[in-house]
Amino acid sequence: MSRSEWESLCDGCAQCCLIKLEGDDGEGIFQTDVACRLLDLESCRCTRYQERSRLVPNCVTLHPGNVSQLPWMPKTCAYRLLSEGKELFDWHPLISGDPESVHAAGASVRDAVISETEVAADELEDHIIYKVEVEEV
Ligand code: SF4
Ligand code: SF4
Repeated sequence: MSRSEWESLCDGCAQCCLIKLEGDDGEGIFQTDVACRLLDLESCRCTRYQERSRLVPNCVTLHPGNVSQLPWMPKTCAYRLLSEGKELFDWHPLISGDPESVHAAGASVRDAVISETEVAADELEDHIIYKVEVEEV
């Protein structure tokens, strides 16, 4: 698969751009409804995609070898589905032909999250929405 084919698999949901917190003493990983400061909340796209790794050191660059090692990736993520041998949802832009279909289906973070720029670091815990289910993926 070429780099551009790999990139085109992303459905643009931006769920992976939400801040996650690690609990103390192996309590697990907790998902918040707070988005990375570089995410455009309307388009659900990274505003500095080419520089993301430098600007946000914990921004993970996905590749075929690490997807299955990231339990916090949403179950709807196309890369996760692919690594689990599952089919894409019919709202995936590659199936629907419409980049807006991921938002229309309610699968993206649009209108559901706030930006990190609006939340103090010590208030992030108040934004936990669920504990990440860790399973073999
Ligand atoms: S969760 Fe997966 S499909 Fe959604 S934006 Fe992230 S990489 Fe793309
Ligand atoms: S740097 Fe960009 S791609 Fe990485 S988490 Fe932030 S918004 Fe998402």
